[in-house]
Amino acid sequence: MITGKNYIGNKLSSNGSNTYKTFDPKLNLDTEWTFYEATKEEIGEAVDKAQDAFQSYKNFSGAKKATFLEAIAEEIEALGDELIQAYCKESGLPEGRAIGERGRTMGQLRAFAQLLKEGSWVEATIDTAQPDRKPLPKIDLRKMLLPIGPIAVFGSSNFPFAFSTAGGDTASALASGCPVIVKSHPMHAGTGEMVSSAVIKAAERTNMPDGVFSNLNSSGIEVGQQLVLHPKIKGVGFTGSIKGGTALYKLANERKEPIPVFAEMGSINPVVVLPSALREKGLDWAKQYAGSVMLGAGQFCTNPGLILGIKSTSLDAFTNALGDEIDKLEPTCMLHPNIHNNYEKGKNELSNQGGADVVAEYKKSVAPNHAQQKVLTVNGANFLKNPKLHQEVFGPFSIVVRCADAKELTEVLNCLEGQLTGTILGNPDELKTYRSVVDALQGRVGRLIFNGVPTGVEVCPSMQHGGPFPASTDSRFTSVGVSAVKRWVRPVSFQNWPQEELPEALQDGNPLSIMRIVDSEHTNKKLE
Ligand code: NAP
Repeated sequence: MITGKNYIGNKLSSNGSNTYKTFDPKLNLDTEWTFYEATKEEIGEAVDKAQDAFQSYKNFSGAKKATFLEAIAEEIEALGDELIQAYCKESGLPEGRAIGERGRTMGQLRAFAQLLKEGSWVEATIDTAQPDRKPLPKIDLRKMLLPIGPIAVFGSSNFPFAFSTAGGDTASALASGCPVIVKSHPMHAGTGEMVSSAVIKAAERTNMPDGVFSNLNSSGIEVGQQLVLHPKIKGVGFTGSIKGGTALYKLANERKEPIPVFAEMGSINPVVVLPSALREKGLDWAKQYAGSVMLGAGQFCTNPGLILGIKSTSLDAFTNALGDEIDKLEPTCMLHPNIHNNYEKGKNELSNQGGADVVAEYKKSVAPNHAQQKVLTVNGANFLKNPKLHQEVFGPFSIVVRCADAKELTEVLNCLEGQLTGTILGNPDELKTYRSVVDALQGRVGRLIFNGVPTGVEVCPSMQHGGPFPASTDSRFTSVGVSAVKRWVRPVSFQNWPQEELPEALQDGNPLSIMRIVDSEHTNKKLE
């Protein structure tokens, strides 16, 4: 049942008088639910509880935290169809997508549980003492990763499950040993409350401390700002717009004690189509890319917003085929009228730039909040001199850039801002022939794709989802896959520390049987 209340730890709370509603974009109507925005006092109480919970939670074994994460997955599933219906109502996304995303979210939680049970992720490193070393004796030093403290999580509008309440940021922070306070996304506050109820049930069932998780409602930026500025918050996870992510990043850095903000933001995901791909498979690629641009009404951070090639008749044929394929597809509903309005605004602004020609445009009338797709084309010179054309338009929109030659293509890639992904369509030999193009692309992105589409982000240890700014605020980390846990920890060295007082991961006997680096050697053996 959706109550509209905040979760302050295990307790439901609605002390404030500011309320708001969520919206059903398909019916173009408010939903039946009313939400109570968290007050300053409720925010303070949630953070105090998180800090108290941290004192015990940070010391829980990997196995114990793993049971909590697995229980969250079970409780989410137990919410059944009611949760799926709330997701569809608040997002306009189809049921199949909701079920798939729920599966992905449960899979993420279970992957972190597995990581905790195995245990080696803490990077235990031991340099044993050498009392006889000359000219000076060497002291015993041992290092491992430890959690940093309560984390504020800002979910995104476009993934109400996988990048939201119990999504990757929350799962990774809880896995690391950090309590989490979610600033619920106002567009899917009901879905968020239901998922929060599952997290709280799981916390109670597995005897987690009250305050290990809270969920705060808000329909404006104040609650999030107060959370980020709270001295007991030690890190921030964010997925959403460049504007929102950079504002929070700035705020966190202006604090008396600055804290890390891991924001995953905008990306236009350049795709380079090399001559062989155009000649041999141009029409196939056009079909695949039409699907990728339109997937989920284009509301993916990995949506291919920029397709680049070298001028030729094959590029023209590919561009026309892409236009034809896109024209065949029916517009779908966007997440919310605000997202739809932003899409229309961005699309029109870019369409009005000098030198931009239309390749495809859906012109028939559509139901409210449905996104009419559009593809433009410009030449490389126009693209280079007009940074407006480099902007992300969140929705089913893409630009084909026709470059004069490989040199101009390289220049275009070098002028782009940081991206989550970069794709090359071609044959393996062309990776050598177009080395400067490939190098330029690699310099701008977090994930390189060969002969594929950027949409679809596999959740596995080798995934990198993050890239140079503004794709993310710290390109050294990923927000997808189990390595995401590394964002919420810091290395601590123990020098000459008594055995029995060391964390188990660093004790001579290796009671956790984890892989460690002992005197520069990878091993899971005990120390003699
Ligand atoms: P958003 O507007 O950035 O909002 C994400 C979350 O951050 C919301 O909870 C929002 O709260 C909060 N927030 C935003 N600005 C803030 C600020 N200055 N201070 C404190 N909190 C702030 O993202 P969104 O709602 O997911 O989507 C809006 C736009 O973001 C889209 O149109 C699209 O352009 C972009 N987007 C990009 C990606 C991507 O991965 N590239 C993903 C999703 C969205 P309030 O809503 O309550 O203000």
